[in-house]
Amino acid sequence: MHKFRERDQTLVKKAKGRFINKNSKLFCEACNFSFEEKYGVVGKEYIEAHHKKPLSQIQAGEKTKESDLVMLFANCHRIVHKLKSPDPWSKLLRLLGK
Ligand SMILES: [Zn+2]
Ligand SMILES: [Zn+2]
Repeated sequence: MHKFRERDQTLVKKAKGRFINKNSKLFCEACNFSFEEKYGVVGKEYIEAHHKKPLSQIQAGEKTKESDLVMLFANCHRIVHKLKSPDPWSKLLRLLGK
């Protein structure tokens, strides 16, 4: 279900657009790495949207909001999904010392 929501491409596109408007470029909200800065436009495609709300806190039928999404690069995204925690996003930030 979590994965399905993250594949809502319209919402993801909007969230990316808003992120770029705000920060002028895309970067990973976990490690702050910018593929775009390193590799140019091609790097833009490497960002993925992650739903940071813990599954347990999502009500049935609740719509994903743009503010629920964080931008992560593929590796960091895999990690956050591997973390065994009721709130993996917060755990990842703690691991990173944020
Ligand atoms: Zn990252
Ligand atoms: Zn995710």
